[in-house]
Amino acid sequence: MEHQTTVMVDELQHNLSTLHCPQCQDNYLHQGIVELYTPTYRYNQEIPHDRVTIVDGENIFHEVIPSQHGNNPSSDRDGLIIHFTCEHCADTDFKLRIYQHKGNTLMDWRYDDGTKP
Ligand SMILES: [Zn+2]
Repeated sequence: MEHQTTVMVDELQHNLSTLHCPQCQDNYLHQGIVELYTPTYRYNQEIPHDRVTIVDGENIFHEVIPSQHGNNPSSDRDGLIIHFTCEHCADTDFKLRIYQHKGNTLMDWRYDDGTKP
């Protein structure tokens, strides 16, 4: 299994946590686009497909595409990607990926080009 870029959080009062920027470790992050991937085996049993839902502000896109052409961070299970920008790392877009791998739920960070921060 590849190395997972650590997701850092602070525990606050009242069971709340803050998420830290993977580059500068500051906690002033802003959410952007949300991508949701759900494998579907009914659409085409020979070629794996994902149901993809992308929420970009008030716009919602939904389609079913071959899994190999999508961005699902999981190889064959559900995946969620939340885009973030950091107030201190302007012009940099980070993706928090939350996805299932067998019985585990993994979290990591990626830049837009797929590289690790
Ligand atoms: Zn930052």
